[in-house]
Amino acid sequence: MTILAESPPCKNSTGDEKTGGGADRARALRERITDHVDALAKAVDDVRASESFRVFLDVQARFHRYSWGNTILIATQRPDATRVAGYKAWEKLGRHVRKGEHGIMIFAPHKFTRERERDNGESETVDGIGFHVTHVFDVGQTDGEALPTVDVPTVDALADDLLAKLIGVAGRRSIKVEFGAFREGFFGASKRGSVEIANTYATGQQAKTLAHELAHETLHWNAEGSFTRSAAELEAEAVAYVVCRHFGLDVELRASRYIALWGGDSAALRESLERIATTARGIIDDADSDASAERAPQGQGVAA
Ligand SMILES: [Zn+2]
Repeated sequence: MTILAESPPCKNSTGDEKTGGGADRARALRERITDHVDALAKAVDDVRASESFRVFLDVQARFHRYSWGNTILIATQRPDATRVAGYKAWEKLGRHVRKGEHGIMIFAPHKFTRERERDNGESETVDGIGFHVTHVFDVGQTDGEALPTVDVPTVDALADDLLAKLIGVAGRRSIKVEFGAFREGFFGASKRGSVEIANTYATGQQAKTLAHELAHETLHWNAEGSFTRSAAELEAEAVAYVVCRHFGLDVELRASRYIALWGGDSAALRESLERIATTARGIIDDADSDASAERAPQGQGVAA
């Protein structure tokens, strides 16, 4: 096996930068990644500015955010609930609860005031909060006008090569990749040291999902400080976008809508630029070194 002297065998990209050509390549890649994130930021802002997205957000805002306790009550009584609202709230949204549907029991807070006597004999009014049982209904128990949605299209393109490269990246990082037909609407998951990828979609979608989960594996399990789920989804999807775009796979429609739905915008993307760029570059470098390892038997590559 030949190891070419001018390109040191690299476990990571830093070794590469010490040589002149490597530094140029690293700088060029870095610039390209920044351009890609800029393009994504523009696409996300375009989604947010669209009329259909505003209508969607407007309706979203009319759904109540339930407390943790109520969320558990809803999930135990109706595990498949997606959108939940009270009888009158559904009427206002142009939908009606079907006859005979049983409501989901939750606790609703109410304010009360009462008079009480102080130690000195004077009376005072005190405010308090009590809870009473009320019922809500899932969208599946209602009929009527369709709720506005934002379609996040799956990637239809085939990208067998990129998928193979990314499986290689996972392998080099000791991340187990499990493919399978999972539940409806499931694309993938990062489980710290292993990822699940739904193989019921085109290989382009699978590659996009794998890049997204690899980003979660890198960024969000050993992270210092705290971050929100929305910030994590924005970063993972932006990394997937950059990696896919680098290898010629267009996932802009899906990535921009996905990020917009998680509340992301261009400002949030720019705030995370360093983390996105570094993670994307690491995956791209690993994927490229996989390719050179594959070419090694023909004597042109570098064994790393
Ligand atoms: Zn995710």
